[in-house]
Amino acid sequence: MLSGNLRELVGYCGLYCGACGIYQGKIRQAVENLRKIIKAYGFDKYVSELAKWDPAFQHYDKFERVLDGFSKMFGECPDCLRGGGDPNCKIRECCKQKGYRTCAECNEMEKCEYLKRYSQALASLREIRVMGMDKWAEKMHEKVDQGYSYLDERLK
Ligand code: SF4
Ligand code: SF4
Repeated sequence: MLSGNLRELVGYCGLYCGACGIYQGKIRQAVENLRKIIKAYGFDKYVSELAKWDPAFQHYDKFERVLDGFSKMFGECPDCLRGGGDPNCKIRECCKQKGYRTCAECNEMEKCEYLKRYSQALASLREIRVMGMDKWAEKMHEKVDQGYSYLDERLK
């Protein structure tokens, strides 16, 4: 039997939040790793020396602040149902207004203006229609368990 929270990881648009790089903490981990490497080499202690070779290092403080910004903004996400992602997401807003759990319930799905930009979401919604949400969420959960992330698709 599918546990409740797997189903809850299905976003309104059909994306599976459990497969999202941000939900998986990939950006936070990347920032932490970069900080560890900088510290291990001790670069942070020799910024003024480095700036003599490359003036870009004069902006080291700003770089640090930007890294903080990435961690704060993209370090974690509570998932779509709990308000994660774009706070003004039109798809979520529209689904909620219509009382749908996902766009798979909507007759406009194939010609929806909002979904046009999200080919992956549309493909997932088609699968959800065929498989049902529980089976689809279970399939996605298994893929994630085997290391799958939407981020890998972007990195191709
Ligand atoms: S916030 Fe919008 S785009 Fe992101 S998973 Fe939810 S419905 Fe999809
Ligand atoms: S019109 Fe239908 S398919 Fe498009 S966002 Fe709204 S609920 Fe989803």
